[in-house]
Amino acid sequence: MNYKSLREWINILENADMLKHVKKEVSLEYEIAAIGKIACGKYALIFDNPKGSNIPVVTGLTGSREMLSKALNVPVPELASYFEKAQSNPGGYKLIHKSESPVKEVITKDVNLHNLPIPIHHEKDSGQYITSGLVVAKNPETGERNVSIHRLQVTDKNHLGILLLPRHLMHFQRLAEDKNQPLEIAIVIGLDPVVMLASQALTPLGQDEFCIASALYGNPIELVKCETVDIEVPAHAEIVLEGLILPNIRKPEGPFGEYPKYYGPQGDREYIEIRCMTTRKNPIYQTIVPATDEHLLLGAVPREGGILQIVKNAVPTVSAVHLTPGGTGRYHLVIQMEKKNEGEAKNAIFAAFGSSQEVKHIVVVDKDVDIFNPIEVNWAIATRCQASEDVFIIKDACGNKLDPSSKNGVSDKMGIDATIPLSSPKEKFEKIRIPNEENINLEQYIE
Ligand code: MN
Repeated sequence: MNYKSLREWINILENADMLKHVKKEVSLEYEIAAIGKIACGKYALIFDNPKGSNIPVVTGLTGSREMLSKALNVPVPELASYFEKAQSNPGGYKLIHKSESPVKEVITKDVNLHNLPIPIHHEKDSGQYITSGLVVAKNPETGERNVSIHRLQVTDKNHLGILLLPRHLMHFQRLAEDKNQPLEIAIVIGLDPVVMLASQALTPLGQDEFCIASALYGNPIELVKCETVDIEVPAHAEIVLEGLILPNIRKPEGPFGEYPKYYGPQGDREYIEIRCMTTRKNPIYQTIVPATDEHLLLGAVPREGGILQIVKNAVPTVSAVHLTPGGTGRYHLVIQMEKKNEGEAKNAIFAAFGSSQEVKHIVVVDKDVDIFNPIEVNWAIATRCQASEDVFIIKDACGNKLDPSSKNGVSDKMGIDATIPLSSPKEKFEKIRIPNEENINLEQYIE
């Protein structure tokens, strides 16, 4: 990859005319979110003049599959399989000295989060939220690293509320808390698409997401040691907050507008104390406007890679998977396969349900259906599916708490087999076709 930092990626976007500057003063309260939401997928934006701060804010840096294709240098249909390969063959990392590390240019012990241009995104959010912070932590028992993104509520000048879902970071926090210990963490803000995507991989406990970033880069990621905690962070980041998740303390966090386009409710949640901040001399702050395509795709593409790996292990004739934007990039999965044996579509569905708690409704289609085109997927369901035979429902499995129709995370699952039965006569499902249609250039016929 020809970049290794947020600002190098910004330069690439700017040279490709995919990033625009907002020079006029904009409010952190709703205005940045509203403009960022409207621009997402069209342009990345850099707000040069956020009100009350001299730190610029960027958003929408990976707002479309085309931008991700540019970021990973692979065609759009190959994004998931490229990610899958990186995840299966992770690289190492390179520890560099702090003197070579841009994120150590300024070190502040008396942290005031109010000096950062942290936006308020949605109407009923409880306040300012850091939405692009990668939380880095180590397993207190094994020392293995984990990297994940969490919503982080600014509670006061040096405290944050955090939402932990039952995954790796929560496991570490509970192990520490059982011994009445704080969990050391670092929160990294301002990173390029490779590290952002790697942090979203569906990994087994113990796999280091930074090493997936190395495989995506084609070079070891450069890390540097933190000042006050025993954690390593990307050396070319913009901002690092070092701190502790305090044991046996819960404080109100939320509500917060989340990726399913609903508010995640308020609850008593884990509480972070920030004790040090390291930054570049002129840092750039990055925000992800929740529920925009940037947010959905950062989750969807790595998950597609992980799901593809697991589903292909079960059914080798699966060729591609897509987590659709209407399904919030998490809940609706389309699987494409070249069915060789009757029943394989259902096996692929079982494997996909096992790969991720969030996947809720799955449609399997044949190879002639474009899984990125919702009209074609709909057409396959309409014409290749009989509900009494091809739809099945599993009651009360583990789903996603942010799905408001779930019972606090307990959710039904549905599989739809929209593949053509192998036994049916060929002509019955033959797609209509006009000879030579594909070679017609309309411009040559109209005046
Ligand atoms: Mn993990």
